[in-house]
Amino acid sequence: MEHDDVSVQRVQPYQAVKTYLCPGCNQDIAPGTGHLVAVPVAAPDERRHWHHGCWAARAQRRPGRLR
Ligand SMILES: [Zn+2]
Repeated sequence: MEHDDVSVQRVQPYQAVKTYLCPGCNQDIAPGTGHLVAVPVAAPDERRHWHHGCWAARAQRRPGRLR
């Protein structure tokens, strides 16, 4: 399902082969860590990787809205 024009996909631990920076907490997501990737439908290049907890907290702060 799309969420406000952002496609959210689950990244399994075996798929996380490099370190990403989570914009929710500005900390690294270590390789091998399951997390989420949010891809704006209108701008697929601007995909962002999030910790599960950070994404959930963000969604509660700004229901239905990504910037
Ligand atoms: Zn985070």
